Amino acid sequence: MDWTAYIILYTIFLMFYLMIILRRKKRLEQQRQKASLMREIPMISRLKCPKCGNVVERPFKHYEYVVQEVEKCPKCKKRKMVVEAIYHIMKKTPRQEAEEKIFEERWK
Ligand SMILES: [Zn+2]
Repeated sequence: MDWTAYIILYTIFLMFYLMIILRRKKRLEQQRQKASLMREIPMISRLKCPKCGNVVERPFKHYEYVVQEVEKCPKCKKRKMVVEAIYHIMKKTPRQEAEEKIFEERWK
């Protein structure tokens, strides 16, 4: 083979390599955007003491799950509190608020 064939093969290889890198970069950016979206929505964990029934709501910690036993109850200090629910509160859209107002007025 002469040099031109080598050069052509090399450029083809480079183009494929660049394509793969660019595609991977795009995917990473999308994942990062999703992660930042999740961070903007405040997640809340509701904990309940199985002994005295004390309920505490606090920001969600990573790797927490429902029925997991977490920190001790601040009220009776005897048992660990259990994660009862994990949720986030979405803000209402202006349309939802208007609809609720109309509904309330109708059923007064
Ligand atoms: Zn308790």
